[in-house]
Amino acid sequence: MEAIQWLKPQHRIPLTTNSSILTKPLSLHTPFSITRCQHKPSKTAIKVDFITKNRDRNMSYSTGPARAGWFLGLGEKKNVADLPEIVQAGDPVLHEPAQDVRPDEIGSDRIQKIVDDMVKVMRRAPGVGLAAPQIGIPLKIIVLEDTEEYIGYAPKEDVKAQDRRPFDLLVIINPNLQKKGNKSALFFEGCLSVDGYRAMVERFLEVEVTGLDRYGKPIKVSASGWQARILQHECDHLAGTLYVDKMTKRTFRTVENLQLPLANGCPKPGVR
Ligand SMILES: [Zn+2]
Repeated sequence: MEAIQWLKPQHRIPLTTNSSILTKPLSLHTPFSITRCQHKPSKTAIKVDFITKNRDRNMSYSTGPARAGWFLGLGEKKNVADLPEIVQAGDPVLHEPAQDVRPDEIGSDRIQKIVDDMVKVMRRAPGVGLAAPQIGIPLKIIVLEDTEEYIGYAPKEDVKAQDRRPFDLLVIINPNLQKKGNKSALFFEGCLSVDGYRAMVERFLEVEVTGLDRYGKPIKVSASGWQARILQHECDHLAGTLYVDKMTKRTFRTVENLQLPLANGCPKPGVR
């Protein structure tokens, strides 16, 4: 597979590059990197989000490392370089449930800045989704978007198999996800908080998400295919669940090994 296919040209780097998500928009942090299997039917890999180790000073996280910068608001310059980093798996904060945002607080500068920063971090990666806990903020906020450009770098057959279509930026506060129908989809998926790895995850094919937009107005999103996968992945983050907590057994592997055949007995990717 070629994980770089979803990357913007300037972000393309060899898969052998030992890049860290904490550095910059390098290859492995693309939204959804598609993978091609040369020995088997093509498989896909998703890169759904991004995170940081900074903590919101107003929240009560018990875990403590990496409290520097950004959200602590200790007088540092607030430029792009000060955007939050992405919290990596291994930090217990990723397994803590997020809290509802009080509706009367949505219009506040604090919440608006969190949303703005989430969008910036997502696009910087670049990525197609991000949940607030991934930048160290235990609030129920997700952002997601997919673009013609990102999709243009993916093999057409994979785009078709995943039912991947572009959609405009979505900001959903206090999302409530419900599955629709009984079909599911099994594809490789990644997470910016589990940098460098992929695994197959079974997701509902269609979902409906209700919540509030960034202005506090009720919204409802009906999604299928890849967008439905992104929504499920991000909502899982709000429940303190990573994809590795629900991945298909024996499919976990490095991005570099994505093209290798699946282990005997593993289910094949696709819609079921
Ligand atoms: Zn994730």
